[in-house]
Amino acid sequence: MKKIFIFLGPPGSGKGTQTSRLADKLSLPHIDTGSLLRKNIQDETELGIIAKGFIDKGNLVPLKVVSEVIKDRLSKDDCLDGFILDGFPRSIEQAEALSQILSELGKFDLKEDAMAVYFDIDNELLIQRLINRRSCPKCGTIYNLISNPPKIMDYCDICDSKLTIRKDDNEETARARFVTYENETAPLYEFFKQLGILKELKADGSISEIWEELKKIVFDE
Ligand code: AMP
Repeated sequence: MKKIFIFLGPPGSGKGTQTSRLADKLSLPHIDTGSLLRKNIQDETELGIIAKGFIDKGNLVPLKVVSEVIKDRLSKDDCLDGFILDGFPRSIEQAEALSQILSELGKFDLKEDAMAVYFDIDNELLIQRLINRRSCPKCGTIYNLISNPPKIMDYCDICDSKLTIRKDDNEETARARFVTYENETAPLYEFFKQLGILKELKADGSISEIWEELKKIVFDE
């Protein structure tokens, strides 16, 4: 089986939920660059201060910043047997940087060890999903007020914390993130296809339907 899983798809396509599940199932670390960057912002690190302006506008954080964050994370011991990437790479230059980082770490090769799963979904559905997304600041559980609401409005089912709305989940930033996705990230579809590591998944079903399809793709490989 492959050891590196890359998830490709527009914002709000459900990648975060499925990658967390897959990480639990395979006991691999779930590496989510958006969360790593938000943690840097919260901790007011030098990288976080640079990243903030880009994130608030729905733009990609510069390659240098994101490469440093990802290289640092992939160098940790829990990545020795593989890992699941969520939100990285997000452009061709980031995919090339990933390939370079992997060869520097000397453990994996992008073509041999990675699988890229593309979440195929209608874009119009997605803006609504993003606007209705809520997450728990304490345990990280993600809800959707329409398709997956918490039992008590605005409170986490797991730990009772008050749910929050991500700052970049307002309509204006959400639309900007789609434009960024189309311009920068969508070309990765062809890039991974050419490399022979692309798998496609229909991502407009329920969370459990998508999960069943994802398992088939991952375990039938
Ligand atoms: P996400 O949580 O994956 O939706 O990411 C939120 C924001 O973080 C994005 O809109 C970007 O501004 C930034 N970000 C996350 N991952 C990356 C990446 N791989 N490259 C550049 N910026 C990123």
